[in-house]
Amino acid sequence: MHAQKIRNIGILAHVDAGKTTLTERILFATGTTYKTGDVDSGNTVTDFDPQERDRGITIFAAAVSCDWAGHRLNLIDTPGHVDFSDEVERSLRVLDGAVAVFDGVAGVEPQSESVWRTADRYGVPRIAFVNKLDRPGADLEVAVASIRDRLDVTPLVVQMPIGREGDFAGVVDLVDQPPPAMREARRRLEEAVAELHPAALEELGDMSDSTLKDAIRDLTRAGTAVPVLCGSAYRDKGVEQLLDAIVDYLPAPAGDPEKDPVALVFKKRDRLTYLRVYDGTITKGDVVWDAGSGRTERISRILRVQADRNTDVDRAVAGDIVAVTGPKSARTGATFSTRRRPVVLEAPRVAEPLVSVA
Ligand code: GDP
Repeated sequence: MHAQKIRNIGILAHVDAGKTTLTERILFATGTTYKTGDVDSGNTVTDFDPQERDRGITIFAAAVSCDWAGHRLNLIDTPGHVDFSDEVERSLRVLDGAVAVFDGVAGVEPQSESVWRTADRYGVPRIAFVNKLDRPGADLEVAVASIRDRLDVTPLVVQMPIGREGDFAGVVDLVDQPPPAMREARRRLEEAVAELHPAALEELGDMSDSTLKDAIRDLTRAGTAVPVLCGSAYRDKGVEQLLDAIVDYLPAPAGDPEKDPVALVFKKRDRLTYLRVYDGTITKGDVVWDAGSGRTERISRILRVQADRNTDVDRAVAGDIVAVTGPKSARTGATFSTRRRPVVLEAPRVAEPLVSVA
């Protein structure tokens, strides 16, 4: 698959905002799983670790791949719990964009704020998803205000909810042929976009859907603004629209498949080594060079990781996220490259001295 058709994304959320439910519904909507799990009965696909289930938090970052609208979406699970900030940082490094999930009642919470700041540091473009709009007290406007005030970003409200709280029935897209009743909300969106984007400013008053969409894409990818979507993962509302927005607004990976291979080990789990390929192509049977440890590693199998099965593939190209078998000693954080062009992406971690002398 061409890199332009890949989206490597993470779902960032405060514990309990609905990340697990949303991931489940995404996997269902994309046909990756045929039965949705239910977090409340503890049989979801992504939270498969028993310890994780018991504690109700996502500890391990796993990657899951699914297809939507001719694109491959690789979901990299980012831990929502602040104790695992090392893992959060590493997972942010391997993704190109993220969906930040907020609770429609609580809005921005302290923990979502800290993950947001980390994502800022890594320059990860984001979409916001205001979840749980079916809950009593949920209010999109209040949540949007908290995103603007506490996260210091320009939110672009690209959807409006239909019905409130218990009567919440779905979402209407404001970019793609909104109904006449949404004219006012569309006008506000156009104005917000025109303030930031010259092409949109030129068409203010008579803006085409495509100009608006292109401008939102530019602003999102540049990190200048954050499209705000909404819904209820639990009620399966707004999930397909979110998938469209991921494809439309979040960036494809950069990287050159013709160069020598460079890939980062970002996770090791159950004898699988998870890789993000940055450049080049890794083919089954290749021997790669771990310049950090000075060892070679053999890539025996390459797997595309799906929710309920892994599929063998022959190669992984720049931009891909895959799991491989074969590497024996490579650690999380190791870079695979070639002896001809050795690369180390992450400085090896050095333990902090216990006592420092001033
Ligand atoms: P996580 O901790 O972010 O992974 O959140 P979960 O997906 O485990 O959800 C936390 C709780 O919120 C669970 O009890 C879910 O059933 C519930 N939940 C998730 N999405 C929604 C929603 O859209 N509406 C409502 N009312 N509850 C939801």
